[in-house]
Amino acid sequence: MTKAQRHYCMSQIHSSGTKPEVRLRKMLWHAGFRYRVNVSRLPGRPDIVLPKYRTTVFVNGCFWHGHQGCRMYVVPKTNVEYWEKKVAANRERDQQAWRRLEALGWYVITVWECELGAGKIEQTAEKVIAEIKANREKYLRGLEERKKAVLEWKG
Ligand SMILES: [Zn+2]
Repeated sequence: MTKAQRHYCMSQIHSSGTKPEVRLRKMLWHAGFRYRVNVSRLPGRPDIVLPKYRTTVFVNGCFWHGHQGCRMYVVPKTNVEYWEKKVAANRERDQQAWRRLEALGWYVITVWECELGAGKIEQTAEKVIAEIKANREKYLRGLEERKKAVLEWKG
């Protein structure tokens, strides 16, 4: 990449008006990760899927997905019961999707909307990148162990 290209790339990442999820995606791409988005054949339709790292990433809105203890998750004063039920159902659906993904051998990373705000997104991206890399290590170690187990079993 030339200096001008890199500059353009970074300006795209930091341009305002881009959805935080897209900014996070661009940061991952820029760091060399390749992924698919909105993969509907996987449980829960993960926002970002990194096959090489056996990792799925969900970017959750704090209100709809009921981010516990978050100041962005405030139940409206009217129809309290309605909103609480709706959010609880979403949380239940999320957790089911995560369990199913894990059962299929996928690692799940959840990123909350509030972690992608200005001044926070860089730190969040770093954390996500570290986790993705760690997942690949775990995945490869798992493969090694299975191979060893098969060899031992064969004697
Ligand atoms: Zn939040």
